Formats: sequence, C-alpha cells, structure tokens
Amino acid sequence: MPVSATSAKPAPKLMSADDALARILAGVPALPTVEAPLLDALGLVLGEDIVADRDVPPFRNSAMDGYAVQGDDVAAAPVELRVVGEVAAGAFPDRAVGAGEAMRIMTGAPIPDGADTVVRVEDTDNASDVVTITAATPKGMATRQAGEDLRKGETILTKGTVLRAAEIGLLASVGRARIRVRKRPRVAVFSTGDEIVDLDLPMDRGQIRDSNRYTLASAIRAAGAEPWVRGIVRDSPDALRAAIREAVAADAIVTSGGVSVGDHDHLKPVLSELGTIDFWAIAIRPGRPLAFGEVKDGERRVPIFGLPGNTVSALVTFEIFVRPALLRMQGRQNVARPRTKARLTEPVDKPDFLRVFARGIHDPEAGAVRLTGPQGSGILRSMSLANCLIDLPVGASRFEKGEEVDVILTEQPEPR
Ligand code: AMP
Ligand code: MG
Repeated sequence: MPVSATSAKPAPKLMSADDALARILAGVPALPTVEAPLLDALGLVLGEDIVADRDVPPFRNSAMDGYAVQGDDVAAAPVELRVVGEVAAGAFPDRAVGAGEAMRIMTGAPIPDGADTVVRVEDTDNASDVVTITAATPKGMATRQAGEDLRKGETILTKGTVLRAAEIGLLASVGRARIRVRKRPRVAVFSTGDEIVDLDLPMDRGQIRDSNRYTLASAIRAAGAEPWVRGIVRDSPDALRAAIREAVAADAIVTSGGVSVGDHDHLKPVLSELGTIDFWAIAIRPGRPLAFGEVKDGERRVPIFGLPGNTVSALVTFEIFVRPALLRMQGRQNVARPRTKARLTEPVDKPDFLRVFARGIHDPEAGAVRLTGPQGSGILRSMSLANCLIDLPVGASRFEKGEEVDVILTEQPEPR
C-alpha cells in the first residue's frame, strides 16, 4: 500500500525534524534530583555516587548444601570424616573444622574457620556421625568469598546511571532504602476541540471520542514520566487560558489539537500572554504542525508541546519529539530509539519534500520491513500494528521493493 502523495503542498518554510528536536532538547530543563524510595526508582537516573557500606557477600559462605571440610582431606575418595556439627543459613558456626573433620552446611551459611572447601551432599552418603565422601572434590569447591560481588568502600554505581532491575538490586544489597534520583517529570495532558467527548458521556452527532488524551497519557507513562490527566478543553481562549494556568503546576504540558492553520489562533495569543510559543511547520508526515514553547510559572519554565489532533500525528510527534524531551528532563543522555536497516517488501511513494515516518512491521530474521496497511494520519490501527517506524528521508519520492531503508525500533508488541 503506497503512502499517498496527494495532499500537502510545500509550505513556505519547513523546519527539519532534526532541527526541531535539537531545539526542543536545548530548550527543556533538566529536572532537579529528589530523594526517592528504592522501589519508585526503576528507570530513573541516579543522582549520587553509591559507595558500598560493606562487603557483599559480607562473609565467606557456602554455594551448596553439603559438608564444609579441609580440601586436603577430600582430594581423593572415598574417605570418611567425623561430623562435628551443622550450620544453616542465618546461623554462625560454633567451632572450627580440623583435619579429618566435616561440618554439615547449607547454602548461604557461613563457612567455619579451618574449612576451605564444601563437598556437595550428592557426593556423600549424607550421614550425621561419620560421613563418607564418595567423590574427590577440588580445594575451594562451592565456596563464595566475602566481597566477591562488591567490596566495602568501592564506588559501585555512579551518578547518571539509569536504574534497571539489576541496579535496584545492587542498591538493596548495600542497604539503600532511599536514594537520590532525577525527578520523574509530572506531565499535564489535555485534549482540545469542540467535537471531543470523554468516554463516559453519550455521543451526539458530529462528535468523536477523545482518544488522544488516553494515548498520550500512556505514552507519557511509558517514557518514565507521570501523566497528570486533565480534561477536554473547548476551542475558546478563555477555556485554554484557564487550562494552561492550572497545568503550569506540572513539569511539562502536552496538548493535542488546535495547532493546524485556522484554529491555532487560540493557543497563540493565550500562550504569548502566559509565556512564549512557536508554531513550527515541520517537514514530516504525519504531524506537520507542532507548537513548542514554555509557560512561565514564577521562576519555573514549563515546556509545552502542542501536538496535532489527528490520532497518528499526535502519537508519532510524541514519539519523535516529546519522548526524547521527557527522557532528557530525567537526565538521560541516550534518548534515541535503536535503529536498524531492512529491505522493503513493497514499494512506497511519498512527497519528496517530507520526511515520512511510515508505520511498519519489521521482521528481524528476514531483515525485511513492510507497511502496516493504510497510512492515513487518523488510522491509529497503523500504530497498533507497528513495531517500528520506517524513516524515509526528504529528497526521495519513491522507494522500491527490495530497497534498504532505515527503521526505528519502537516498542515491540507480541506477534499477532
Ligand atoms: P485538529 O488538530 O484540532 O484540527 O484536529 C485534527 C483531527 O484530529 C480532527 O479530525 C479532530 O477531530 C481529531 N482529533 C482532535 N483531537 C482529538 C482527540 N483528542 N482524540 C481523537 N481525535 C482527535
Ligand atoms: Mg481541533
């Protein structure tokens, strides 16, 4: 299915997507660091260096259930050793292990002095007075050394690290219940339009459901930010002014609708009064009109993104411009999605003066990519079916079947 090349005549001044993104990234503030409970910190950027307060593990311990022994005693088997006691995880050995002796030991229990080796229980007769070791065991077997994971005094994570599950675990293992992280942006999101109806209300003639607020709130959450879901704002200056005045309590504002030529007049005067705004015609499809500016709230500058109303345009412009901005506000350096190259399984036509982000299904095994089907800017299903955006540059009007194209790997849905 070719991308239609019909509508959209070249506007007088089109800005490139790269320039727009560069300006946005230069314009958004990095949020301050805050103290957060460890379990709220997943995906956030660490705001301090972390030094281990002790060795991890804190003591030499057994990696197996078995018998703690002197390695010299078990170099050959079979051999009988006298069992001198037992130590479980959470307990501490009450004596040392000498030559000819063994102590029953459980996984995670401290290894008694004198012992340097653990014979696993499967290599013994599991007896309690005199144990027979049935397999020769190398010295040092099944022992874990104090500090073999983390050393006391060592810097284990540095400021700027993005916290994944493994890093959360490292922080837990050095006892950090609270840590400094870059604040999660709270992002106000509202829809604009006289025709837009929320989900719990009956629909009248000429009205449509508000999908953008739900799409964008979810995309905000997926970008690690916290959506602050506001209402539907009618197409009037007063309604917009009131909505923006409330929304400045957030760290950023995302709106949809009312930025195309003809009705952006409301947003522009209101925002010139409350801050600054630029309306950009960006050389992309979908999503040519985009507004970016900031609202002043005392000393604070709150970035505002006015996204187009069409459902696909709203989500694609979020993906290309807002998601990187929200990540940068969280202190992330790498804000780009991974990219790859793939061969088109069908030809694609496009306007040569626009960069087209076509919705695609990428097959990594075949190194191939195809369109999701109809690519209209109101066909949200094209996003739902997609696992990538096919990034077709300015300066070409046709891509042939078999041609290699750039692919942006977005969130990966389950195959269906
Ligand atoms: P606009 O950018 O306001 O001119 O809107 C462009 C198109 O997107 C129109 O067809 C609108 O009805 C539609 N649209 C605007 N806002 C929403 C919304 N919140 N949910 C779904 N569609 C919308
Ligand atoms: Mg509208």
